[in-house]
Amino acid sequence: MLEVQGISLGYGSTLVLEGVDLRVEAGEFVSLVGPSGSGKSTLLRTIAGLLTPQKGSIRRGCTQEEIGFLFQEDALLPWRTARDNVALGLRIRGWPKEQAWKEAEAWLERLGLEGLGNRFPHQLSGGQRKRVALAQVLVLKPRLLLMDEPFASLDAILRTQVTQDLLALVEEEGITVLLVTHDLEEALSLSDRVYLLSQGPRARIVQEYRLPFPRPRDPIGVKADPRF
Ligand code: ATP
Ligand code: MG
Repeated sequence: MLEVQGISLGYGSTLVLEGVDLRVEAGEFVSLVGPSGSGKSTLLRTIAGLLTPQKGSIRRGCTQEEIGFLFQEDALLPWRTARDNVALGLRIRGWPKEQAWKEAEAWLERLGLEGLGNRFPHQLSGGQRKRVALAQVLVLKPRLLLMDEPFASLDAILRTQVTQDLLALVEEEGITVLLVTHDLEEALSLSDRVYLLSQGPRARIVQEYRLPFPRPRDPIGVKADPRF
């Protein structure tokens, strides 16, 4: 689904990434872990096509439209309701308003946000906003989902809920995932494989872990305990 070969990229004359290689097979959940400032966001933005590398190549098994990007800071429009925020991408793709709203509501419901479609972002909790941001990306049916520290601002319990819901959805929809995080434990618990990026500048992939046990494939088996 994704093959990155020998990517080098810098801002001005400062080289941030040097000779980075990684690949993600279709259906895999892969994480990229590295220290702050090493270049994880830079690499993810390059993979998304938002930055152009000075060297190297990227082969994507899907179109730009089929890539979903979940930013670290949620990109919700504060003056739009949750429903409008989720429907926005569909509207841009030419969906009629009623249909886009219906689809947006269906995704909000799937992410446990039933009845909150009329709320504005500031009227939602941090965890609810994260779910709206996730719905905003998933409603567009990405084949490749790129996520930049999406759970960093959540407390431990919410993080478990959101990540388990996400895992179930990713399984159901057959989405390929590349997750950026600085939390090795989180990466190991979610992924099939983990890449470790070295300390910058001139970061490169220094290690690749393949998890000894495959991640549970049955979404029911990985659902968070509803009592918590
Ligand atoms: P964090 O874990 O803190 O999010 P990161 O691994 O995502 O860090 P990047 O945001 O990719 O790191 O930044 C890599 C390096 O590039 C850092 O030294 C940063 O200061 C620098 N950098 C990032 N964006 C720019 C920019 N637009 N212009 C110049 N330098 C930048
Ligand atoms: Mg970053």
